[in-house]
This record gives sequence, structure tokens and C-alpha cells, in this order.
Amino acid sequence: MAEKRDYYEVLGVDRNASDEDIKKAYRKKAIQYHPDKNPGDKEAEEKFKEAAEAYEVLSNHEKRQRYDQFGHAGLNGAAGGGFSGGGFSMEDIFSQFGDIFGGHFGGFGGFGGFGGSRGGQRVNRGSDLRVKVKLTLKDIANGVEKKIKVRKQVACEHCHGTGTEGGNAYKTCPTCQGKGVINRISNTILGRMQTQSVCPDCQGEGKIIVNKCPECHGDGVVVKEEIITINIPAGVSEGMQLTVSGKGNAARRGGVNGDLLVLIEEVPDKELIREDNDLIYNLLLSFPTAALGGTVEIPTIDGKVKVKIDPGTQPGKVLRLRGKGLPTVNRYGNGDLLVNISVYIPENLSRDEKKQIEAMGQSENFKTSPSLSQKIFSHFRNLFD
Ligand SMILES: [Zn+2]
Ligand SMILES: [Zn+2]
Repeated sequence: MAEKRDYYEVLGVDRNASDEDIKKAYRKKAIQYHPDKNPGDKEAEEKFKEAAEAYEVLSNHEKRQRYDQFGHAGLNGAAGGGFSGGGFSMEDIFSQFGDIFGGHFGGFGGFGGFGGSRGGQRVNRGSDLRVKVKLTLKDIANGVEKKIKVRKQVACEHCHGTGTEGGNAYKTCPTCQGKGVINRISNTILGRMQTQSVCPDCQGEGKIIVNKCPECHGDGVVVKEEIITINIPAGVSEGMQLTVSGKGNAARRGGVNGDLLVLIEEVPDKELIREDNDLIYNLLLSFPTAALGGTVEIPTIDGKVKVKIDPGTQPGKVLRLRGKGLPTVNRYGNGDLLVNISVYIPENLSRDEKKQIEAMGQSENFKTSPSLSQKIFSHFRNLFD
């Protein structure tokens, strides 16, 4: 496939464009490259589709955010969603138009043969299904396969999704005479146009069931529980939505399934805090370990690791364990594990301990000074750079 153009470039808007700017820009492109204005022009058709695809992404806040962050890669594959079927059908494009042109732009006027519309029949699509998945940091670090039980519409087994019983189950729809669509002439911004809309009586099927299946009552679908396996890639985060195409509800009487939309929820970890792809751990050292140095254990995603503590380690110091954080969705390397050091100062002291510490306090080594304060302050300042 040829290199995809940048969506902002396709619509000719800058990256900070408002929703309204994007809509306006798309409207202009849609009129410019509309197939009715450019009959037989393949290049215009491609431009028309390209603009529709760009609009589809940039008009959707969630998709736009993902596109801004990850580019086209953010919209493809398991983590992507978007155009799982490999691009847009003309039907998809026209279904956007009600939104863009305020309802003037109904059907697919000048051209049959697009979007798999057999004789003007509409392809049914099942509705999307939404589920939430709770993930631990370990799931997120490694990617995970989740099995989820969902109640969804599936094709009726009794009638194989046809909704009919026995032969001669259908009669031709009297409203549209079997065409599935009703033609209308209307005035649009492109001038007089013939538009088609789906027949309200047969929902575009051109025929009506006379003998209905007793199991599904003619719907062709029944509600059932199903276990769905979802492969969640590493590096996802709270609020991200994955699309598993074709795993949503089945369409009534044949057609294509909707999608399964998987919303990611993070289960807070008991020890590690996530900050983008870095992890943060608060290490509490005893006063003797901070003063004398030693070895401590730090929890990571893959279990404990030993870390050496230098003598004279100050509270507020941050150790960086490179690559011990979370992977990015695109797997361009890992984040780090930041170990923030605190030192425990005893809260209850015996009389003896008090005496010992008072004695230590007399020693020069235990005294603070302005130059020492300046040195520690520069560490502190680094935290905010
Ligand atoms: Zn049935
Ligand atoms: Zn009809």
C-alpha cells in the first residue's frame, strides 16, 4: 500500500484546527471531489475517499488524539480500530453526510455499484458491543490475552440467520417493488440531485418475510452468551479503546457483524505508580542504611531486583533503573523505573537512644551548613527540570 498522507494535510488544516474548521474543510473537499461532479474520474474518487477517512479520524476526539500521538500506526492493528476492513466504502462516506451537510446529502445518487450495494440494497451491520477490561501493570507490561463473557446477538441457528421458516418464506416488498430504496429528487448544494433512501417497510431488503422462524421471530438473530478472546497489546493505558472488528452484535438477517469495543481500565498497583511509561517506586530506607550504605530489594514488573545504596544517600534522591518501566504501544523501547528515596527517622526513642543521637549531633559530620544546603537544593531543583 502506498504511504498514507497526513490527515491534516489531506484536509488542508493545521494541527490545532477546531472541530468546526475540520468540518468546513471536509465539506469543501467532499464537494470538490464528489463523484457526481467528477463522473468516471478515479483520482477524484480516491481523493474523495481519502478526505472522508481523514475526516472520520479527525472529527472523533478519541481517534484524533490517538492519531496525534501515534500517527497512522495508532489506528491500525490490534490497538487501532479505525478502518479494520481496509478503507472506506462509499456507503460509509455517505452515511457521514447527514452530519456534515445537515441531511441534504442522503443517498448515493449518481452511481450504483459502490459499497457492495446489490441493486440498491443496503448491507446490514450489527451494532457495536462495549466491554471494559481491568488490567494489572503486569498485564500492561507484557500484553495479555483476556477471555471475556459477553451477551450478544448471534445468528439464529435454527434458520441460519435468515429469519425464515420453510420455502417461499418471502414476498416482494410492495412499497419499493423489491428495489429496497425509494428515489427522491431534491435540491442540494450541488444543484438538483436524485437521492435514494432506504425503504422504510423492508429496511432495504426489497422483500418481506411471510413465514417467520419460530426461534428468532424473523429477526435472524438471538441473544446468547459467548466467550471472546481479546489480545491486548503491551503498553496500553487507562481510557484507551481497542476495536476488535467483527466481534460485536450480528446483523439482523445476514450482513456484517458490529465491532467489539474494549475500554481499558488500570487496576492500581500496590507498590508501583505509573507515570506514562515510567514507573515510580517509593523506597523507604532506614537511617543506618542511608548513612552507611547497603543493598535493598526493589519490586519491578518482573519481580524483585537488588539495588546498591551508597553511604550518605539523601532522602529525595531518585535512582533511575533504565528500561524497567512499561513498553510503549509501538514497542519503541521501554520507560524507566524511578526509585524515589525516603529515609525513616525514628518516631519513638528510648532514653538511651536519645543520648546516643544527642552525642552524634555534637559531631561536625552531623551538622548542616549553608553550603551543604545549597548542594542538596541543587538535587532538589533537578527533580523539576
Ligand atoms: Zn431463526
Ligand atoms: Zn421495501
